[in-house]
Amino acid sequence: MNIKMQCCGLILLAVILFFYNRQKKINLNTEKAFMRIFIVITFGLTLDILSVVALNFMEVLPELLVDLICKSYISTLVLVALNGVLYVLTDIYNQSEQYKKRLYIYSSMAGIGILLIYILPIEKNMEGMNYTYTSGPSVLTTYIFCMTFFAIMTYLTLTQKSKMNPKRREAVLAWIVLWLVSAATQFFNNKILLVGYAGAISIMIIYLKLENPETNLDRKSGLFNQTALLQYMKQQFGKGEEFALLVMNLPASLSHSSPEEEEEIRMEIFQYIAALQDTIAFKGAEDEIILVFQNQEQALQVEALLDDRFDSGWGRSQDIIIYPEWMLIPNALDVNQAEDVLPYLRYAKQNSMDFAESGRILLDKDMTNRMYEERLVEQLLADAIKNDWIEVYYQPIYSIQEKRFVSAEALVRIIDGEGNVITPDVFIDIAEKNGMILKLGEVVFKKVCQFISQNHPEDLGIHYIEINLSVVQCCYEHLADSFIEIMEWYHIDPAMINLEITESGSVGTTKTLLENMNKLIEYGVKFSLDDFGTGHSNLNYIVDMPVDIVKFDRSMTTSYFDNGKAKYVMDAAMHMIHGMELQIVSEGIETKEQLDTMEALGISYIQGYYFSRPVASDAFLSFLEDNNEVSGLAEDLII
Ligand code: C2E
Ligand code: CA
Ligand code: CA
Repeated sequence: MNIKMQCCGLILLAVILFFYNRQKKINLNTEKAFMRIFIVITFGLTLDILSVVALNFMEVLPELLVDLICKSYISTLVLVALNGVLYVLTDIYNQSEQYKKRLYIYSSMAGIGILLIYILPIEKNMEGMNYTYTSGPSVLTTYIFCMTFFAIMTYLTLTQKSKMNPKRREAVLAWIVLWLVSAATQFFNNKILLVGYAGAISIMIIYLKLENPETNLDRKSGLFNQTALLQYMKQQFGKGEEFALLVMNLPASLSHSSPEEEEEIRMEIFQYIAALQDTIAFKGAEDEIILVFQNQEQALQVEALLDDRFDSGWGRSQDIIIYPEWMLIPNALDVNQAEDVLPYLRYAKQNSMDFAESGRILLDKDMTNRMYEERLVEQLLADAIKNDWIEVYYQPIYSIQEKRFVSAEALVRIIDGEGNVITPDVFIDIAEKNGMILKLGEVVFKKVCQFISQNHPEDLGIHYIEINLSVVQCCYEHLADSFIEIMEWYHIDPAMINLEITESGSVGTTKTLLENMNKLIEYGVKFSLDDFGTGHSNLNYIVDMPVDIVKFDRSMTTSYFDNGKAKYVMDAAMHMIHGMELQIVSEGIETKEQLDTMEALGISYIQGYYFSRPVASDAFLSFLEDNNEVSGLAEDLII
């Protein structure tokens, strides 16, 4: 009966081996560790059968031989348990120093165990014809060592939860339970030889759960998938072994043929790539193939090969020429961790000048640093929104006609946990890129409304507050509704609000922007055009946009003083803008001379350090109280 079970076990193992070998593998450490368990268990099962046979023929066989076979069998149980621990360790530590240290300790332990098994006596029992089993000190030693390894394995699996692949954890736990049950059964009832069979079943569980190489494959293309890529990269990082990445992006449309033919061409390309030597190919996102090499030289060789292949055409008649996009990362180890490689790739693609020119990404320190800095800023933004670190500063705007401060520009600041004031140049671009600007813009808008409703700056001579809108906000279709809701909530007179927009390039944006603007204008809000003179604003745009104010950028003023031609440009622009009955605010006025010149030119509003830097709301109110009582103060203002 026992022999039958062991034979079933062997057949099971043979079937698994058949499927396992049929599939391609990436050579992960866990794959190797799995293979080792597989071998030890097969070896054990075979010895298990041999030992049953030997026990049955105890009378005729030399005693030493029977002992040797039985002891060899029980030794394999210790080896299986040891390999179980190593399998878990591989998952946790990869092949790092920590792994090697533990490998040494545990292997020595197993060595001592096996030595004891061979030295200590073994008792051979026979009850009736078919029931044979062993016991005695040698067998007891086996139990002790196996249990110790299983305890270590359980401990690691339970305590190093975060470092293990969750699926592998489940499989290992199932294995442990199965072994414990079968070992306990066998301990209390020597007649049933379950342990070896349980080993075979465990292998099947692990195989089905995760060592089935198919789980690493992308079904459609037959290339490895992204999960496999991450595992592979983690392993390389663990070992500290450099590797190069070559990324190929197929164009969205391959030819002008039918979808079926497109599919055929895609498969042709995938198959060609899958068959390349020295290359492991992974399928990334949509039409993206990631090739991994040991080093840059190999990557370049294969790239040259692929270039040639792509030149010679694809499809049934080899006449379809495709131009993929290439990206090369010479050594991916330059980013901090495996998880950052793909995000880095996307980051570099968007931000690298090199890539735009040559299609190559050279992992330079600058770029990696920038990516990590950007992540810090993203974190800062998230923290700022969560912890209410967002503050609005106000910079007063002076009216030449009224000789007092009639408005102010609201400018966002983050005051972090330590009280550092962080200016928008650090975070606005990033907030625009990751979409947080929507939330940030809403917070700023709310804060300004709250400020107006609590402090009534209109009583101090302020006609309206200017608030910056990013292009991203302008594209948000519910912007107008959300702002109107906020103004209603705070009972704000919409005439107190002036929104600053900048020119946006795309026509699509302009459509949503105009819808938002019209809704808000109907409600009573006014608009300014910001950054005029920076190249982001031109006169046509002013004609098309329903704005009341145009803000001359600081660079206009500076170049007006620096270079003769700029004078004429500014004069012309001014006349046109005034001709359209729009007001002009001149920004960045720092000196009396600049102020006088702007006044002489006929510009009506002045904003700049000459009067005040942007200041916190309390300081802004005090500023108004000090300076807006009497008229004609500008001349004797103390700065
Ligand atoms: P901006 O809209 O052109 O704002 C004017 C910037 O010029 C402010 O910088 C202001 O402090 C600075 N400035 C004012 N007068 C002078 C001067 O006399 N000399 C010099 N050198 N600079 C002067 P800030 O506050 O650092 O803001 C930078 C930019 O960040 C703003 O440029 C605006 O584009 C953006 N920003 C600020 N707050 C917000 C916001 O709430 N939402 C959005 N979307 N963008 C904002
Ligand atoms: Ca502005
Ligand atoms: Ca501006």
